[in-house]
Amino acid sequence: MTQPIAILGRGQLGWMLRRAGDRIGANVQLLDPQAPEQPAPDTLITVESEHWPDNEGTRALRQHPGWQNAKTLDTLPSRILQKTLLDELQLPTAPWCRPKVSDSAEDVHNTLGPDFLLKTDRGGYDGRGQLRVKAAENTALPGWKNEAIAESAIAFDTEVSLVGARGRDGQCVFYHLTENYHRQGVLTVSLNQPERFAALQPAAEAMLTKLMTHLDYVGVMAMECFLVGDQLLINELAPRVHNSGHWTQDGAAICQFELHLRALLGWPMPKPHERGTTAMVNLLGMEHQKEWLTVPGARLYWYNKVCQPGRKMGHINLQHPDPKVIAQWLRTLPLPKEYDASREWALERLTS
Ligand code: ATP
Ligand code: MG
Repeated sequence: MTQPIAILGRGQLGWMLRRAGDRIGANVQLLDPQAPEQPAPDTLITVESEHWPDNEGTRALRQHPGWQNAKTLDTLPSRILQKTLLDELQLPTAPWCRPKVSDSAEDVHNTLGPDFLLKTDRGGYDGRGQLRVKAAENTALPGWKNEAIAESAIAFDTEVSLVGARGRDGQCVFYHLTENYHRQGVLTVSLNQPERFAALQPAAEAMLTKLMTHLDYVGVMAMECFLVGDQLLINELAPRVHNSGHWTQDGAAICQFELHLRALLGWPMPKPHERGTTAMVNLLGMEHQKEWLTVPGARLYWYNKVCQPGRKMGHINLQHPDPKVIAQWLRTLPLPKEYDASREWALERLTS
């Protein structure tokens, strides 16, 4: 029997971690964040999300001898602490400040310019807990500004993310930079084209290595960046497997879920072999459709959740050595009208 791993969380990320564990003989158990059982003392405890409810059970887990990455999980879930750490390590990020109780929008505009975002310190995800504030629109700041950061809006060329892992011996491995398209702050499509950002890869790896090493982190971490010219600005860090790494399930011989478990268990972590261009489409706020399965290359992952507007219900990976074939599959994939811009964005890249 291998050393047990418990994941705090039973959402899709927990489920995909367990599924990856089943394949390689790792012993993975999922814990209900509302009332987690206390695992056996030799269990390694990791999280599917850096935000979890505060209750008796989760407080006890943090005292468990197997609780992993305490320093990281005490720091990154707070945008204030995360941004402070980036500044300390002199890693580039969007200019930011902490609005004071007495600050008006104009005060913040004076510091950050005519267009900024207010982001809650904790708990935001999928674009929630964010407010865009433009000088031209005379927006009043909401009551939660004291528990938020303000951040300049960046006129980025595109968004990329780096997913990598650090092992117990301090060695780090990475996938190629992935390009991401968001609709209203929520990821719709990720594209992995290994050569596309080859020139930025060393700088990106150096940034995430510095962070993971500083935090003495073990496991998979994702670094979301804005790309402005040839400059990477860190948008945010996720100390866990990440939506922009889902393509690795079909585009790499070791997917991000397996890599996270290998890192925690101290198992071998060679640089994952990648299969070439891979696309991932998030299925947001829609019911299951068997018609997706008419596309020969569509690999569907369905999360079996109750459908709500905008909710991540599943994803589809498309992988083929020839990007033109992926483009053809993507053209025929049944998707609602709201996906037109996301699909066009990906087709442009796959066919150029
Ligand atoms: P998730 O958990 O899905 O990654 P989130 O709620 O944590 O999202 P962010 O990653 O901070 O939120 O923002 C979501 C998206 O909103 C970004 O990927 C980007 O498209 C846009 N965005 C966020 N901050 C900025 C910024 N400073 N300038 C321009 N766009 C931004
Ligand atoms: Mg994000």
